Amino acid sequence: TLPVQRQLLGHPMGLYVCFFTEMWERFAFYGLKALLFLYLTKHHLFSDDDGYILLGTYAGLAYALPVVGGLLADKYLGMRKAVTFGGALMAVGMLGMAYRGHAATPEMGFDNVAVQIMYLSLALVAVGVGFLKPNISTIVGRLYQDNDPRRDSAFTIFYMGINMGAFISSLFVGWVGIEYGWEYGFGSAGIGLILGWLVFVTQTKHLQGQAEPGRPELLDEKRFGIRRETLIYIGALIGVIVVQQILQTRFDFGALAAVLGLAEGTEITATEVVAILMTIALLIWWFKFIFVECSKVERANMIVLMVLIGISAVFWGLYEQTYGTWLAFSDRVMNSYTFNLLVSDFTPNASQLTSVGALFIFALAIPFAWLWPVLDKKGWNPSAPAKFGFGLLFAGLAHFVLQYAALNPEANGLAGFWWFILAYLVLEIGEMVLSPIGLSAVTTLSVSRVVSLMMGVWFLASAFGEMLAGRFGTLASMPAGTDTGTALAIYADVFAILGWVGVGCAIFMFALTPLLNKQIH
Ligand code: GLN
Repeated sequence: TLPVQRQLLGHPMGLYVCFFTEMWERFAFYGLKALLFLYLTKHHLFSDDDGYILLGTYAGLAYALPVVGGLLADKYLGMRKAVTFGGALMAVGMLGMAYRGHAATPEMGFDNVAVQIMYLSLALVAVGVGFLKPNISTIVGRLYQDNDPRRDSAFTIFYMGINMGAFISSLFVGWVGIEYGWEYGFGSAGIGLILGWLVFVTQTKHLQGQAEPGRPELLDEKRFGIRRETLIYIGALIGVIVVQQILQTRFDFGALAAVLGLAEGTEITATEVVAILMTIALLIWWFKFIFVECSKVERANMIVLMVLIGISAVFWGLYEQTYGTWLAFSDRVMNSYTFNLLVSDFTPNASQLTSVGALFIFALAIPFAWLWPVLDKKGWNPSAPAKFGFGLLFAGLAHFVLQYAALNPEANGLAGFWWFILAYLVLEIGEMVLSPIGLSAVTTLSVSRVVSLMMGVWFLASAFGEMLAGRFGTLASMPAGTDTGTALAIYADVFAILGWVGVGCAIFMFALTPLLNKQIH
């Protein structure tokens, strides 16, 4: 049982500590993401191809490493130490990005030292996220007894923190980064992160000891004459260097390409190799687990969960276009729009427009919180697999909206602003019927003793989504200076393909739904 805790608005204080820590962590993560593609292609003179691939591999690693960070915290570190360490790594990485921005100008061209500092900074952020993100979420769950009815609302509040961070950072970091210089954008994202880190380290008393290492004696054990805890940190720092290399390594398929039916010169990124190896390892564990250690009912639930997690990768592959092709589209071939606000006019730039996603999450949270119980009463509440089908359907439809916008430009030849906003609305409806449902499906369908690991697997699917998004993005690559008409035609083609990917997977999911529903217990 948990000790009696100080409460605020009906929830333990610890929830608010997690809320603000994660809010600022996402502030940094999404601030960086809102600038990254433009920074790479405009400032570092990356080609579109290289920009999309790096965006995908970096963000992919940031979602794959939580599997490792979660395991290390479960086994040794405990959540508090993992979050503290992860936050520190991220802060150094963000400041490294800021330094990098300062050191170069587009006129300098491709500067290898500067680019290496950038890779190192991205590696620090990705490893930092791996230590921080899964563990801050686990702490939230630990603040409540298993049967506490406030648990769902706690996670809803926490998800709001995530989106609040994403929203304010796109607006603020996007503005600072584009108006005043990349270095100030990344720097301000880093300052936000440091604020969140300070909140966390000074307020750990509110976590009620729930985030402490399970077996502290293991941390003190010596290996090679060094404390195990120190060894873990050293290992992580070596991991940063490894990740720095992984981010920029690609393998040529060589002669194998023909065998696999691929074009000559096709490359696979080291990140993709890592993700595939992690997946193979996890699948081996998972098959063994469900066939050896699970009852029939548990096995059926675990299989449904795995199908949902697998298909979520496609959803994220479409969803994450927002930081790639959508960002490029709005920057290059779309009309901007000026809002006449009371105090001054406001014309959001492309990076700032990524905030629209989080804005719609807020707007949709209340209608959806209302919708599910209403549907439930009528017996119309779709099952989790059906909701996933709808999620993919909306993600696909959003791309058809953009295709329409690209095919029907306004009088000045640029695509219309409001179509873009509509596409975001449709996409976010998709997120609302898929993402929170997925998180809750992990906690209900998973066998409880492996729920943390399954949460890691859920994020690993996001990692695949990010990498897939990068690959999808390269379909829309174009040389710098491509004229607007040609660019619009390319975007229209690519958005149509992505639209069909979403609709196709939705149909697949709907067809599978009756079968999956029969398995859920
Ligand atoms: N937007 C959510 C977050 O940042 C979920 C992202 C994901 O799972 N891909 O935490």
